[in-house]
Amino acid sequence: MQSRWSSEAAAGLDPLALRVYTSRLLGAEPSLVLFGGGNTSVKHEAADPRGGVRRALTIKGSGTDLATIGADGFAPLGLDDLIPLRERDVLDDEAMVELVTLALLDTQAPRPSIETLLHAFIPLDWIDHSHADAILTLTNQADGASRVQEVLGDAVGVVPYIKPGFELSRASADVFDADPSVDGLVLDKHGLVTFGETAQASYERHIELVSRAEARIARSWFGPRRSSAEPQSDAARMATTLRGRLSRRRHMIVRSDSSPRVRAFVDHPDVARFAQQGPATPDHVLRTKRLPLVLDSDDPADAPGAVDRYEAAYAEYVREHADPADDFRHDAGPRVVLAPGIGMFTTGRSAAEADAVARIYRQTMDVIEGAESMGGYAALPARDLFDIEYWPLELYKLKLAPPERELAGRVALVTGAASGIGRATAERLASAGAHVFVTDVDGSGAEEAARRICGDGDAAEPLTLDVTDEDSVTAAMRAIALAVGGLDIVVSNAGIADAAPIDALPLTEWQQSLDVNATGHFLVTRAAVRGMRQQGLGGSVILVCTKNTFDPGRDFGAYSAAKAAQLQLGRVLAIENGEHGIRVNMVNPDAVFTDSRLWSDDLRAGRAAAHGVEVDQLEDFYRRRNLLQAPVGAGDVAEAVLFLASDRAAKTTGAVLPVDGGVRGAFPR
Ligand code: ZN
Repeated sequence: MQSRWSSEAAAGLDPLALRVYTSRLLGAEPSLVLFGGGNTSVKHEAADPRGGVRRALTIKGSGTDLATIGADGFAPLGLDDLIPLRERDVLDDEAMVELVTLALLDTQAPRPSIETLLHAFIPLDWIDHSHADAILTLTNQADGASRVQEVLGDAVGVVPYIKPGFELSRASADVFDADPSVDGLVLDKHGLVTFGETAQASYERHIELVSRAEARIARSWFGPRRSSAEPQSDAARMATTLRGRLSRRRHMIVRSDSSPRVRAFVDHPDVARFAQQGPATPDHVLRTKRLPLVLDSDDPADAPGAVDRYEAAYAEYVREHADPADDFRHDAGPRVVLAPGIGMFTTGRSAAEADAVARIYRQTMDVIEGAESMGGYAALPARDLFDIEYWPLELYKLKLAPPERELAGRVALVTGAASGIGRATAERLASAGAHVFVTDVDGSGAEEAARRICGDGDAAEPLTLDVTDEDSVTAAMRAIALAVGGLDIVVSNAGIADAAPIDALPLTEWQQSLDVNATGHFLVTRAAVRGMRQQGLGGSVILVCTKNTFDPGRDFGAYSAAKAAQLQLGRVLAIENGEHGIRVNMVNPDAVFTDSRLWSDDLRAGRAAAHGVEVDQLEDFYRRRNLLQAPVGAGDVAEAVLFLASDRAAKTTGAVLPVDGGVRGAFPR
């Protein structure tokens, strides 16, 4: 590992800015820390809010990510409030948190790290703590402590495994006091702590110790592999089957990874043994669970049984270790599924959560492989890992999370989503928490619409999709299964419109309207219900039809006839799929002009002529003809689609919901 230190970048920084700088240097290395792991601190003179200046310990806030941390990610504490705590005989977690909180010099600061006292009790000014893969590779072996001594010698002290908190802090300080000449401490099966008189010294000692460990880890003889060239079972079908089984209680996103790196791990003949030891460092247990599910068959038909056995074993593990008085339970499903011959699947309530699990487990693969090459991977006993997984100080973080949104864990696909009703619908579903595939025949339009949605926890992915092309539809469904495991909501919206009286209508225009406005919906919804049935979670299909199906107008034959076919398609889909829990409903908008590509200049001119009004009066004409005298917007249609997509419409199928301001001639019948 190379030092990223730059004297230029560090020049002139005050202690807090310097602390931010080297914290980010650690955070920039995924093999050191991921997602809130690790912590850093500095002891310095700081303003006391009660007046004057005092010695402060400024430490990373709990759960803050070192890769992106800023000054507001740190909490300043009065050091002389903390140091005397070392004399206590015992200090339980609750009392420790209370006393650390009382030492805060800023009431707006984040909650200080759980490892605050460790930083307070070691007297050096700069302290860096990571969960470095290379160090864990040494400690996570049967003779881990002697491995560390052998590789790092006198440069470090070794602290036996103790759960983070007062006891670990005191034990670490004792090991330091026994030999203050060390550059750092290795916390057995947990990570590395380095310290120094300067930010640079502490950081560079960290990199140096990790580099020495890395140099000793040879991965060259990880052992024989099953050939990765053997035919790969269908990863998409496996993902869908897993998602169906894992989402019985709550909908989950399932990410797939069949990369050569992952295949090299999961295809190893001993994977079932070495992947069933436990995580590399305890705090990973909160993301990955203690154990992955290792499948022993690449046939998706066998996966549901394997999930059930995993969940039964998890329930047993909880029964064995849990305090009977405490009834909180994490969901029993696996977060990591290793499928020999296929790859890795990771799960979460959002794609971001499933991606975090995947990133952590890919690092775990490095640690396991390194330790296996040196003698054999060994993790902490189940008891210790359970104590972290169900640790009240960690569960507290869950309670701080905002309430989940209505469509959390659901996946939606919207066609024709680059503009108009489609785009508004994609935005609305994403804002309700769904993971939305924004599809359009105009791929760059889909990309632009998806980009607009992403951020603030809203998730959207663009896909180029030509609804009239069977292969394009099949490819999109496969891409979605591989990306997130399956689909729950399909909004079949893509449409075109041309105006012409039937006696003057060219066959090509008639055919084109049928291709997009009828066959396109057939291809998309057929693929949707096939996937939903395989998944076994039910689903919601919404067809964006039109007021015209009940109340057609002149010069609009090709459009109205095809849209009538679409409506009838929806009704038959509802009849055929109710037994699978799949609801199929229609919305009938009228005259939605917002940001619409359907309303071309030609169409506006054609419809204005058919209604005998001027083109610039067309929107007003439509508004005046409805009962509410109200313009209908894309957002109004999106709201109706959201209702039908959600569980609030759980008992509604085969229905047509008009969104037209009230047009008497178009009342559903
Ligand atoms: Zn730690």
